[in-house]
Amino acid sequence: MATGTINVSVENIFPLIKKFLYSDHEIFLRELISNATDATLKLKHLANIGEAKVELDNPMIEVKIDKENKTLHIIDQGLGMTQDEVEKYINQVAFSGAEEFLEKYKDSAKDSGIIGHFGLGFYSAFMVADKVEIKTKSYKDESAAHWICEGTTEFTLTEGEKETRGTEIILHINEDEKEFLEEHKIRELLTKYNKFMPVPIKFGTKTETLPKPEGAKEEDPAPTQEVDNIINNPNPAWTKKPADLEDEDYKSFYRELYPMQFEEPLFNIHLNVDYPFNLTGILYFPKLGHDMAMQKDRIQLYQNQVFVTDNVEGIVPEFLTMLRGVIDSPDIPLNVSRSYLQADGAVKKISNYITKKVADKLKSLFNNNREDFEQKWDDIKMVIEYGMLTEDKFFEKADHFALYPTVNDTYQTFGELTDKIKDAQTDKDGKMVILYASNKDEQHPYIQAAKKKGYEVLLLDSPIVSHLLQKLETSKENIQFVRVDSDHIDNLIKKDEEQISKLSDDEKKAVQESFEKVVPTEKYTIQLEAMDSDAAPLIITQPEFMRRMKEMQATGGGGMFGMGNMPEI
Ligand code: ADP
Ligand code: MG
Repeated sequence: MATGTINVSVENIFPLIKKFLYSDHEIFLRELISNATDATLKLKHLANIGEAKVELDNPMIEVKIDKENKTLHIIDQGLGMTQDEVEKYINQVAFSGAEEFLEKYKDSAKDSGIIGHFGLGFYSAFMVADKVEIKTKSYKDESAAHWICEGTTEFTLTEGEKETRGTEIILHINEDEKEFLEEHKIRELLTKYNKFMPVPIKFGTKTETLPKPEGAKEEDPAPTQEVDNIINNPNPAWTKKPADLEDEDYKSFYRELYPMQFEEPLFNIHLNVDYPFNLTGILYFPKLGHDMAMQKDRIQLYQNQVFVTDNVEGIVPEFLTMLRGVIDSPDIPLNVSRSYLQADGAVKKISNYITKKVADKLKSLFNNNREDFEQKWDDIKMVIEYGMLTEDKFFEKADHFALYPTVNDTYQTFGELTDKIKDAQTDKDGKMVILYASNKDEQHPYIQAAKKKGYEVLLLDSPIVSHLLQKLETSKENIQFVRVDSDHIDNLIKKDEEQISKLSDDEKKAVQESFEKVVPTEKYTIQLEAMDSDAAPLIITQPEFMRRMKEMQATGGGGMFGMGNMPEI
């Protein structure tokens, strides 16, 4: 038997652990299961390279609650520890055995998936336990070890009785933390943090229905059996090669990630890079209902298949936080502030990579099946338009596939649009005039009138696109956007001279005057037969400068292209 003092540089680490991590108590389970996973993966690795002569029969991790004794058990069949190793790895707080292992086997073990230094590590157990025991037996076949510590710097380490290889961690749960003895709480944590960890995790058993034996009668109940309840999927889709996955595999993984989501995703983007940083993942474009379009926190971040957070702000560009899916990267620094993350070079590269992959995917969808792309446009435009507004790199790429609904064709890209109108819609200075309406009602007289004259009109219906026009106007040369109901139109575009009035001059004057009595002429201009008389015999326009002024006031100086209503006739 050995007794001794745990080797810590701080006087007493336990009160610190309890105080500082108070809000995040639940992560203890993630830490202990990460260690159990590492112990299993290390053993597998040692067996692979012939350093451990052991039979590995699909080792798993078990989590067990013992209500009577108020203990929680995490049991693995990994490499275990000798007494010396407990002394070294456990008693020296802040010494990471995982780091040491990776250092020692750095050539062969770099893809072993070992998790290691994650957060606080083993000692986070004391956030919820008054007393922690380790019963462990090394694969090296030395005698077992039994370590006990009651949350002070004192511990005991004796020879143990464990007969099977591996480690059992026993947490004597503190009275204040007894929720961690509840089955539903533990199940909730396991599904949150460990749903995709690489070693099977057993939590209780479940009843499985077996097929009826041949010749069984209709009314005979199907036979059942108790089987291990494995809570995780150790081989989630994102860890596989894209070539090995079918469309259906991506869809079923989406359902696995979001069991409460009934809509199918529109398409997915498989991320897979190992240089200059390591990143895998699958992003999905969901169908964005209008009200939930801005909802965030739907991409989950993992490190080596351990859940870290569902807040990826600072890691993916903001416009992509509307997507769903998984990103797994050991290269994203954790436990640092979000502003630090944004400044971090590696994170910046990751963010750029993701943006590029998303843009490339959209481009290939557009090129390969334009019709399908147009059909999805309403569901994806929010993300694309927002991305174009906020990320210049994305703007450059998306400019080729972003669609603008128009009155004559369903959708046109910006290039197609300008090609089409460059002759007919140019003002006397040679500047292209792009008409738009913030009204999707195609029957509107202004829109109809412009259409009859052969003009193309953009029909804008998203709250973002108006800001995007402003960006287009400033980033492209020689174009201007003019609202279809603005009095600019007829000054700018060569007027159709062939209109023949059916009214006499006196009649026109009478109509004009009677309208001027009821319409505030300081705000609006009344034009008789300015447009095709089938569409509207008379129109009331608002001077462009006044409209812009009004909108600037309304938006506090921001966007000139607000969605103000057109004056009705
Ligand atoms: P880290 O995981 O970063 O190495 P921890 O504090 O979580 O740090 O664990 C310290 C060390 O204790 C591990 O590196 C490992 O050597 C040892 N250890 C912890 N849990 C186990 C376990 N279940 N089986 C074998 N060794 C373990
Ligand atoms: Mg650890």
